[in-house]
Amino acid sequence: MAQWLPLFAALAVSLACAYRRAGLRAWTLATAAALAAAGLAAGFHAGFWSVAAPFALIALPLNLTGFRRAFLSAPLLRVFERVLPPLSDTERTALEAGTIGFEGELFSGRPDWSKLLAEPKPELSAEEQAFLDGPVEELCRMIDDWQISHELADLPPPVWDYLKAHKFFGMIIPKRYGGLEFSALAHSAVLQKLASISATVASTVAVPNSLGPAELLLHYGTDAQKDHYLPRLADGREIPCFALTGPFAGSDATSIPDYGIVCKGRWKGEETLGVRLTFDKRYITLAPVATVVGLAFRMHDPERLLGDKADLGITLALLPRETAGLEIGRRHLPLNVPFQNGPVRGKDVFVPLAQLIGGPAMAGHGWRMLVECLSVGRAISLPSNATGFVRMAAAATGAYARIRKQFGLAIGRFEGVEEALARIGGWTYAITALSRATAAAVDRGEKPAVTSAIGKYHATQLGREVVQDAMDVHGGKGIVLGPKNYLGRSWQGAPISITVEGANIMTRSLMIFGQGAVRCHPYVLKEMEAVRIADPRERLATFDRVLFQHLGFGVANAVRALVLGLAHAKIGQAPGDAYTRRYYRKLNRYSAALALTADVAMGVLGGKLKFKEKISARLGDVLSYLYIASAMLKRYEDQGRPEADRPLLAWAFHECVWRMQMALDGVLRNFPVRPVAWLLRALVFPFGRREVPASDRLGRRVAALLTAPNEARDRLTTWAYLTPAPNNEVGRMNALLPEAIAAEPVERKFLKALKSGAIRAHEYFEQLAEAEKLGEIGAEERELLARVRRISAEFIAVDDFDPKELEAAVQRGPGAALRSVA
Ligand SMILES: Cc1cc2nc3c(=O)[nH]c(=O)nc-3n(C[C@H](O)[C@H](O)[C@H](O)COP(=O)(O)OP(=O)(O)OC[C@H]3O[C@@H](n4cnc5c(N)ncnc54)[C@H](O)[C@@H]3O)c2cc1C
Repeated sequence: MAQWLPLFAALAVSLACAYRRAGLRAWTLATAAALAAAGLAAGFHAGFWSVAAPFALIALPLNLTGFRRAFLSAPLLRVFERVLPPLSDTERTALEAGTIGFEGELFSGRPDWSKLLAEPKPELSAEEQAFLDGPVEELCRMIDDWQISHELADLPPPVWDYLKAHKFFGMIIPKRYGGLEFSALAHSAVLQKLASISATVASTVAVPNSLGPAELLLHYGTDAQKDHYLPRLADGREIPCFALTGPFAGSDATSIPDYGIVCKGRWKGEETLGVRLTFDKRYITLAPVATVVGLAFRMHDPERLLGDKADLGITLALLPRETAGLEIGRRHLPLNVPFQNGPVRGKDVFVPLAQLIGGPAMAGHGWRMLVECLSVGRAISLPSNATGFVRMAAAATGAYARIRKQFGLAIGRFEGVEEALARIGGWTYAITALSRATAAAVDRGEKPAVTSAIGKYHATQLGREVVQDAMDVHGGKGIVLGPKNYLGRSWQGAPISITVEGANIMTRSLMIFGQGAVRCHPYVLKEMEAVRIADPRERLATFDRVLFQHLGFGVANAVRALVLGLAHAKIGQAPGDAYTRRYYRKLNRYSAALALTADVAMGVLGGKLKFKEKISARLGDVLSYLYIASAMLKRYEDQGRPEADRPLLAWAFHECVWRMQMALDGVLRNFPVRPVAWLLRALVFPFGRREVPASDRLGRRVAALLTAPNEARDRLTTWAYLTPAPNNEVGRMNALLPEAIAAEPVERKFLKALKSGAIRAHEYFEQLAEAEKLGEIGAEERELLARVRRISAEFIAVDDFDPKELEAAVQRGPGAALRSVA
């Protein structure tokens, strides 16, 4: 035994140092001390020297900086210079834009949870809450989504006027320019409420407050541009749109063929220096009604009128609608969610240089401007719209599943429906936490490049899963379109949010991990920067320092992944209460596993990883679910650890962890270098895949929360428009829920009497009267059943039309509305 003591001592100390992320020097000293102690205790025999000698051989050169640089770092630097993928300017701009928040901790393998928990709790100001309860509530009351989506294919004029009068288009514009200057949270809350009643209205409001002229002018506009446009954008005198996409540049927006040639031309009767623009844009939201078009194009100066560069690069300009040659007004019809959207074209359209956003000084900086601003808009608009919808879907589907009876039972009681309800409830909890986290990040001043992509992708993707389940639970009620259908348009429109602001497949495959790996990783960007240092001595010194920190980081993550895997994440320091501590530990484990796997993937595959989209997408999934799970834990803490929310948190958490495990497993199964994959698997899953999705029992508890009024359900559906107003079937159905539940025991008595054969009548209300007469139910009970039956019949009903009405709708409806615009 004594001869093994030095080995055990050295191993134990090394593992402890790696687990706790001790530095190279600390590890050397601690291991040397442990070896010395073992030697003193058990003697300096052969067993001691067989451990001490290799230790000295490894530790000494690593600690001799000059030696290490010359013989280890210098050759590695040469390899690194060779394998480092060349970065295009576009990629560099994307990587450098934005800031990193808690996602950086998740990528570190050892998240510092105190940072997350110390972040301020996001809250609306009194003014913002008043806006939500006042103008937003009033606007919701005005909305008739069937009229909008079927009859007019547009918002009715009073809704347009109301939006402008109450500055819905100026939520991000500062008060000094006449805007509302709302926090990102308030902006998100407004969109959520609108999305819960009309996707068309929510999209119309989202766009001017997202990436577009207002946001770009705020950051880069000249004073004259700000003073002119911002007050007019705030009160809706100007309706903006932003035109980037065209037939030959969709996801790859940098490849726009639209161009502008610097030249002299006439503007308002005077000869002016400007650009002559030729462009063909499509899918542009609000374009048909826009009064000012933000346009992205590539600027050329062949006559060198501005300087010595002929190709200036992507540039942004503002084109007033009346600009000669601007073709605008035609409409696309996006999947029956008819917000204004259409093409914008122009040939040799002249605008002066003063119309460039930021003036001539910003010519050629367009891509950086877009990328820098993109993350903020992306963190809010689409996640909020998806969140508003899922909140409504959770309320509606829960209520409907309780009110709708089949086989003598509320359909929500059937296990199959319960499964769908659990998914709706759990994912709604996750999506709401996610959009809250991204809005809070923006309010803290972040430009969340990585998490806005996570928010956009997962809120819309999970939102689509929720709408699918909501449709299935509603059966025919979700399918038959008409004023009584509150789901159909969202179902139709789900792919819109999947496609816009970074189509989802690309966002998942290329952006989340692609940006996350480099931006969140504590050392990769520093190594890339070190390689580019001009002075060779400084380059080597910097590279050496960062490289050895990186290696220590890798070893630590390997040890942490293994130790936490062996312990099934049951050990380690973690915050939270008795209920959530295990969740934090679980995330610690997967954070270490992600950091290790990502590091190895980057190290082994190098630049090829960029093209291994299936690997990179799965690694992005792990980062995303880590982020979503952290957002849920933060929400749980911020809301005072409500016990009532635990089933929702637990369901969504188990699903997130299960999906993380499956994503990591997918990486390892498909990793091209098999021995590396085997080694990684031994470290990451030492006992195999042991995570399981949420249990049926947990799912039942979530479904129960959705189908009855309770505080957890109220929190889940906050900000959805649930006022029981005439235009809001979901609100009215929700309001009936307490009575419908109170009627259930009476209904059971009544059904028993029916089954006994004592009641002879055939018609429901006559049967009720007979049951009362026979003493099976009391008078009040009869009244309750009759009332619930009458009201719920209204919610079960669907629309039918006189055939002529539908024919007329084809004549007068969206088709006609669009034709008349054309
Ligand atoms: C209703 C609507 C409103 C819009 N509003 C605006 C607007 O206001 N202003 C504006 O400028 N644009 C707007 N867009 C354009 C929108 O941003 C683009 O549709 C989007 O960028 C995708 O481009 P695309 O449709 O040409 O698809 P494509 O680029 O052809 O992509 C097709 C598919 O290929 C995938 N793909 C592409 N490249 C990769 C890759 N490298 N890796 C993996 N997958 C990839 C995509 O994810 C997608 O699934 C709007 C679009 C729609 C439909």
